Amino acid sequence: MNQHPHGSVLVVNSGSSSIKYQLVDPVGGAAIASGIVERIGEEAGVVKHTFGDTTVERTDPVPDHDAGLRTVLGLFDEVGPRLSEAHVIAVGHRVVHGGSTFTGPAVVDDDVIAKIDALSPLAPLHNPPNLTGITVARELLPDVPHVVVFDTAFFHTLPDAAATYAIDVDVAREHGVRRYGFHGTSHQYVSGEVARVLGRPLADLNQIVLHLGNGASASAVRGGVAVETSMGLTPLEGLVMGTRSGDIDAAVLIHLQRNAGMSVDDVDDLLNRRSGLKGLAGENDFRSLHQLIEGGDAAAQRALDVYIHRLRKYIGAYVAVLGRVDAITFTAGVGENDDIVRALACAGLEPLGIALDPERNAGRKKVATIVSADWASTRVLVVPTNEELAIARQAVATIEAAGLEGTSDESDPAPAVAGHA
Ligand code: ADP
Repeated sequence: MNQHPHGSVLVVNSGSSSIKYQLVDPVGGAAIASGIVERIGEEAGVVKHTFGDTTVERTDPVPDHDAGLRTVLGLFDEVGPRLSEAHVIAVGHRVVHGGSTFTGPAVVDDDVIAKIDALSPLAPLHNPPNLTGITVARELLPDVPHVVVFDTAFFHTLPDAAATYAIDVDVAREHGVRRYGFHGTSHQYVSGEVARVLGRPLADLNQIVLHLGNGASASAVRGGVAVETSMGLTPLEGLVMGTRSGDIDAAVLIHLQRNAGMSVDDVDDLLNRRSGLKGLAGENDFRSLHQLIEGGDAAAQRALDVYIHRLRKYIGAYVAVLGRVDAITFTAGVGENDDIVRALACAGLEPLGIALDPERNAGRKKVATIVSADWASTRVLVVPTNEELAIARQAVATIEAAGLEGTSDESDPAPAVAGHA
């Protein structure tokens, strides 16, 4: 008999103008169906739904999240699989900021909603649209439990010394100013996968995880417990990213506001959307960046140099945090696909026990792969992240712990989701 209730989980990631979703089999791990609604609120919304070999794409106007989710549910009926037959046992929602309030996933109720809402000042661009998605989904799918999974939760274990900014303690306390960390679902999932791939207990492993996507973050994980991470109060701190600066002297903000006539919103826009690779080279996708470099573009080369320099600084720092490093793992869009970035990040680190095998490292990795040389004391891996599966599994574990999985029974495959048309 399965350990988990037999059924599927609908995972929803609701942004300010988009809803990404995936129907996941939490036991086998497969994505049964997936899709995205984009440009919500604009003149022409884009809706894409994939089930099996069929992908349907539409450009209907999607005035709001309610309309967006109704369209998605309509596509499940039309293209498949019908949710009433897919035996959805939970809806898992990604929420960016759980502050100090949430140290793990939670079953959604009015109190949880109020608490997420109260954290909105810490993530004004993320928590409100996350909440909109949750509210709409609860209305449209009222018969299944909804579970929130937080990007910050895995990092609630950061030691005080790592989580604390060296500023006036009263100001920090009053305004919740501390380091929270983000991409936690990915760091947790990937560090767990590393233990599985290496065939070693998670508790025995000291790991560095490098989540390099459009957003990028590094973490140090000791025995499965996060002890350092590069993102802070918000997902701006740390590594150089697609459009975000990462670490910067905070006085740059003061300087620009005092002397360049920039407002708070201007500085926000600069650091979050006009910085990183985009700010340095006009391009935030590594595929295009490499093409520019091949064509002799000096700005693109400089952007890559700055990116790699920062990444190596963090690897070095986390070696010092952990003392002994058993595994360094690359994940997310860049980490999984860009062998040049991986090679440059690890180059010349043989004295630290870090060395890639060039043949193993070559190419894109669709499955977990060890890419280090056999003689090196630190294993270097590429592990594809799967935040949807991680959210689905956490949702199942959470409803099981709350005793809410009772509607499921393999001998009685009655749909947990009734008609929703
Ligand atoms: P996010 O989820 O943060 O939006 P992803 O993890 O999907 O980002 O990563 C997106 C990034 O991955 C792209 O901006 C691009 O730089 C990089 N990427 C994707 N495919 C490739 C590839 N084949 N080679 C190099 N980089 C790639």
